[in-house]
Amino acid sequence: AAADLHAEVLVLGAGPGGYSAAFRAADLGAKVVLVERWNILGGVCLNVGCIPSKALLHAAKVIDEAREMADHGVSFGEPSIDLDKLRGWKDSVIKRLTGGLAGMAKQRKVTVVTGLGKFASPTTVEVTADDGSKKVISFDKAIIAAGSEPVTLPFIPHDDKRVIDSTGALALEDIPEKLLVLGGGIIGLEMATVYVALGSQVTIVELMDQIIPGADKDVVAPLAKRLGKKAEILVKTKVTAVKAEADGLRATLEGADGAVREAAFDRILVAVGRKPNGKLIGVENAGVNVDERGFIAVDKQMRTNVAHIFAIGDIVGQPMLAHKATHEAKVAAEASLGHKSAFDAKVIPGVAYTDPEVAFVGVSENEAKARGLNYGKAVFPWAASGRSLSLGRDEGLTKVIFDEDTKRLLGVGIVGPSAGDLIAEAALAIEMGADAEDIGMTIHPHPTLSETFGLAAELYEGTITDLI
Ligand code: FAD
Repeated sequence: AAADLHAEVLVLGAGPGGYSAAFRAADLGAKVVLVERWNILGGVCLNVGCIPSKALLHAAKVIDEAREMADHGVSFGEPSIDLDKLRGWKDSVIKRLTGGLAGMAKQRKVTVVTGLGKFASPTTVEVTADDGSKKVISFDKAIIAAGSEPVTLPFIPHDDKRVIDSTGALALEDIPEKLLVLGGGIIGLEMATVYVALGSQVTIVELMDQIIPGADKDVVAPLAKRLGKKAEILVKTKVTAVKAEADGLRATLEGADGAVREAAFDRILVAVGRKPNGKLIGVENAGVNVDERGFIAVDKQMRTNVAHIFAIGDIVGQPMLAHKATHEAKVAAEASLGHKSAFDAKVIPGVAYTDPEVAFVGVSENEAKARGLNYGKAVFPWAASGRSLSLGRDEGLTKVIFDEDTKRLLGVGIVGPSAGDLIAEAALAIEMGADAEDIGMTIHPHPTLSETFGLAAELYEGTITDLI
């Protein structure tokens, strides 16, 4: 059948990966069609991920800080929460961004086709709209950016409305009295932070021996300590069963020692990871390989095993982060149009926007040990940072890992307020091949939290020993 539309570059999925790829390809002069099943651009990140979570985390932070200022002589009284208004504000933030994207698409003459897209052949995608009508789009090049979705668990009654995923948690329909958060990863912890501040009694269950498994324990410890005062954090614990009963969700929790306990909750947030959408888009009809988990393998140019089809973002692998998707997008758009671009990032930073924030980039100490690297480290405690103390906070730390032979920076872990913003300098330092002296001799403004990075490097070098 003849195609209804032809694209020089077809992009499937309009998340950070997809819209970035579409815009770049259009800027390079290509006729671009962007296919998105939702009737809004922005994907998970803008609509049900990065942005709404950060808006709610901001509210949580204001609530917590207002409460804590009472200890320092400024009292506000208990916050009164107008949930409709808070939700409305969060939605308005999303709308501003997604509306901006729609404008940018229009400006670039990117054709947006709304509907569920599936590859029908190596050169066509069939799009089914909500009303069942179908459109066939032929393409010269395709970029797959169909993202990921939350993992579900077989022993959880996901069809019960009281069982929610991150999307449900961000919808902010009510403030549950008792909330069980299944999974102590970044998404679970961020949502726990929000609901704790809003007044829920929160229990976080994590299978591994620490929250944010994979990150160095000392970097995570200040978060575990602070959040642990407000929420119950159970590590080395698994949920083995959930029974939906009229008056609550009854969960069976099993500790490492085999101890079993039951507890009832009003809501259960399942945040145990995300799975790629690779098996839901008909890639087999295009000859594109997808592994059993749904990931699509790509090379440095983001090219799949089929030379004219590229893939980017969550669907190509970890870390599933928006800033990885946008950078891969640019490469895929350029490579698809014959440019010699390649994805060559040395490091990709990760951030938990909890309170304190936890941020990491490059090699962690765990990894340095596991890989047998000849590394050295220094840890600068924020208790010695005037700026941190002025924020009423002393628990943060900046940890730097250097290659002992070259003195080059390998990795950084930061925990404390604004750690997510601070980690960017470390990412730049690693990309630029900076060594300890470069960092220590870079003059950081005083008094800022950014100084802790320079001071950590100086501690490593031994050019300061006493902490001020
Ligand atoms: P997505 O954003 O998943 O976009 C994929 C798009 O494809 C979607 O719009 C989907 O509707 C569409 N689609 C899928 N299949 C089809 C189809 N067959 N036809 C048509 N359209 C289709 N990352 C960060 O970097 N920072 C954060 O702070 C952060 N916070 C997060 C918080 C939460 C609660 C969640 C869930 C995620 C968070 N992430 C964060 C991760 C981030 O959202 C993802 O890494 C990012 O959205 C991935 O972008 P993507 O373009 O690969 O895919």
